[in-house]
Amino acid sequence: MAWDLRTDVLVVGAGPAGGMAALELARRGIGVVVVDRSPFPREKVCGDALLEDSLEILGAVGLEAVLERRAHRVDRVRFSAPDGREFLLEGGFATLRRRELDALLVEEACRSGAQFVDGIRVKEPLFQGEACVGAKGVDGSGRSLTVAAKFVLLATGANARVLGAFGVLQEKRPTAYGIRGYFRVPELGDDREMFIAYDRSFLPFYVWFFPMGGGVFNVGWGIRPDGRGGIPEDKCPASLIRRSPRVARIMAGSSQESSIRAAPIRTGFRGARSCSAGLLVLGEALGLTFPFLGEGISNALISGRVAARVAGRALAAGDVSVSSLFAYERDLRSLLYSRHQGYLAAERWFRSSWVANLFISRAAGSPALGRVTGEILRGRRSAGVVFSLPGMLRLLLRRYGRLGSRQ
Ligand SMILES: Cc1cc2nc3c(=O)[nH]c(=O)nc-3n(C[C@H](O)[C@H](O)[C@H](O)COP(=O)(O)OP(=O)(O)OC[C@H]3O[C@@H](n4cnc5c(N)ncnc54)[C@H](O)[C@@H]3O)c2cc1C
Repeated sequence: MAWDLRTDVLVVGAGPAGGMAALELARRGIGVVVVDRSPFPREKVCGDALLEDSLEILGAVGLEAVLERRAHRVDRVRFSAPDGREFLLEGGFATLRRRELDALLVEEACRSGAQFVDGIRVKEPLFQGEACVGAKGVDGSGRSLTVAAKFVLLATGANARVLGAFGVLQEKRPTAYGIRGYFRVPELGDDREMFIAYDRSFLPFYVWFFPMGGGVFNVGWGIRPDGRGGIPEDKCPASLIRRSPRVARIMAGSSQESSIRAAPIRTGFRGARSCSAGLLVLGEALGLTFPFLGEGISNALISGRVAARVAGRALAAGDVSVSSLFAYERDLRSLLYSRHQGYLAAERWFRSSWVANLFISRAAGSPALGRVTGEILRGRRSAGVVFSLPGMLRLLLRRYGRLGSRQ
């Protein structure tokens, strides 16, 4: 038997982008239905790291106290170069399993008036003329659901198929894959420290060890897709260990706590159109995860907030045409574009282990460069300040004085 819902805004996908958008819309008194293909709470393959910008945004919507209780606090990040030199960055970070974080956001949205229906896979859009006015999906037992809406927010992560169905897909292939599992790693005693190892065989990406508390670490690494956009190699931990003697040493006494899983990543602010009439594309679906770093939770949250504001305005004006939605991409670009470009440049330079060694040793030896690296990670500066041609020259010549001025 089919069932139908009617609302102001349909949010498809309950990751950080969809959850944040639903929360902000509901708090404005706008009717919201959120659907997700997975029954919640659900796992999401992720490093589970919340950098300071993510924590700031979550704090700004009132989740500070609950994160204080449920997230694991991390006080520093140790970056290790291919040649073994290290740079330690102090800061206020955290980790929280995505199973918990995403459920937390959607619960908060529901407390504010949103309706959440999980286990619904959206298959196709509903159109009225040019405008998207809802979607059709199916639940786990094959029953179909239709949600009629005045506006749709597509926050479906790296799932290219659904972007194609809504006519906004520009690039089907992901830009990278992330692979992770949970391990006990006795070799890493410090539960308050994230460890990031740049190793010759993983560059420009890295292997991460993020503490989750209780001796468990989220261990993972990034890889490029093969020519057809698939995973190019065996994703078992043995392949990780074979590729890097240094990682092998760290993992020698480890025990595996979960299966190893991989997920595609869409980065670089590309791969989909940001809007069509009655529709905005959010978060990783829009390629908002950062290249090089693979961090995407903060950007997903930001896009959720901006989308809620733009959709709310369009609904109030009764105009959901593409021209009424231009502020969405404009605002996202002004917040994020230069940071994406900076990380793209960093990714290009870090293909060379010589550059990775140079940057990490210089950051360890220069308080000015160390401070700028912290600002980049906190989202205050673009990585372009270091990874542009003039920035690299300054790095070579140790001329860090000019890094003091914002770029
Ligand atoms: C291995 C790995 C490690 C990472 N580590 C970090 C990290 O430590 N920190 C960080 O900030 N970022 C990290 N990222 C990136 C981060 O996971 C993403 O940027 C983030 O999840 C994007 O959020 P989102 O809301 O856009 O999409 P998602 O979190 O992917 O949420 C999309 C939701 O849409 C649902 N959905 C998809 N298709 C449909 C459909 N057809 N119908 C209904 N629902 C649908 C999915 O079930 C999902 O719940 C990592 C990524 C990977 C792969």
